[in-house]
Amino acid sequence: MRKEVRWERMFPDELEAAFDACPAVYFTYGLCEPHGPQNTVGLDALKAHAIACRAAETHGGIVAPPDYWHIHEHGMYANWAYRSVGEVRSWLTAMPAWQHFKNICYHVRAADALGFHAAIFLTGHYGPNWQDLKTLLSLIQPHFAMRLYGLPDFEANTPGFDGQGNGGDHAGRVETSLLWALEPDCVDMSRMPETDTEEPHFAMGANAFESDRRIGERMVNDEVAWLGQKMQELLAAYAEADISDRQPVTFEEVERIWAETVSPTLKTFETMKDPDESPPEDSQWFQQCKIPELP
Ligand SMILES: [Zn+2]
Repeated sequence: MRKEVRWERMFPDELEAAFDACPAVYFTYGLCEPHGPQNTVGLDALKAHAIACRAAETHGGIVAPPDYWHIHEHGMYANWAYRSVGEVRSWLTAMPAWQHFKNICYHVRAADALGFHAAIFLTGHYGPNWQDLKTLLSLIQPHFAMRLYGLPDFEANTPGFDGQGNGGDHAGRVETSLLWALEPDCVDMSRMPETDTEEPHFAMGANAFESDRRIGERMVNDEVAWLGQKMQELLAAYAEADISDRQPVTFEEVERIWAETVSPTLKTFETMKDPDESPPEDSQWFQQCKIPELP
């Protein structure tokens, strides 16, 4: 029987049935970004979206359209790119932190207005953005009835690649194995570089040579179980809360929440801090490294 969980590919009657069975939604984030010569550039969102789909297929819920635009080029990301990508064409689909987080506020609003009870926000892209995601959701939670939880997928990847909690990397053995298990057409190990050639290899992790599709499958199952458990906790918290006065939040109210609650604290977000050290001025990563003054 057809078991579709991807919001954009579902018919209205399927959405209603899925919602009635489990009023939970997953939002997934990542960007096109260098991930070594062996992985397609969309790894982060491909990974997060596919894991969320497996979680919804197994435990119930609906998966929102993935967001392939994420934070890069400024703050610490500029320095990272200077070291790990270098002066090549990056194929990034980047946007600044403040825009990404404002978009998330609108994603929350849309799902809350539709009546979902619980939402998980899963980022496949790392750096410090996941810390800010948690901060953002805790700031805006009081304004929404729907229960919110944000995480990088590596938080759910336990016990990790080696059983010792090693659940995250950048285009190394963890991410390559995960993508290999989830989207086999998007990993090509024959594109791996020679071991003794000079780095960086388009931001490939040094241990990518240890990638293993079957370990990837096991880690996917671990993440799916973790997410299913977390979603149950959120649904239970919603069931216990007093939501008798639940009202959809308007666009205007989102703008007010942003202006009054989020904007004043934005400067303290990890992704909104200038890099400790700037890339050299002749690097393509210099121009956007400093966070501009926002109006
Ligand atoms: Zn990645």
